[in-house]
Amino acid sequence: MNRNSAVVESKTRTIKKSKIDYSQGPPPVSVNQAWCKACNICISLCPQGVLAPDEDGKPVVAQEDNCIQCGACWSHCPDFAIKSNYK
Ligand code: SF4
Ligand code: SF4
Repeated sequence: MNRNSAVVESKTRTIKKSKIDYSQGPPPVSVNQAWCKACNICISLCPQGVLAPDEDGKPVVAQEDNCIQCGACWSHCPDFAIKSNYK
């Protein structure tokens, strides 16, 4: 394995299928814009690629169908700025 292949492998993730249909309700998670400091911890830790930064660097739900309510985002946010709408 060379250096380049290691980088490719580290960016490969297996996306699981969510059991929740978000199309009939609120988004899987919501961000308190006033509390969020755009540290991007939640975006980095999401194993499903659900979150992406907006123009201010704050997370928005970009792939809601992928959210499995794992809690990685809200349990690691240092500012309690992201929460589930389903738990
Ligand atoms: S971890 Fe919290 S403060 Fe950091 S970007 Fe996500 S919601 Fe904002
Ligand atoms: S609950 Fe899990 S899958 Fe859903 S946005 Fe947060 S980290 Fe990603």
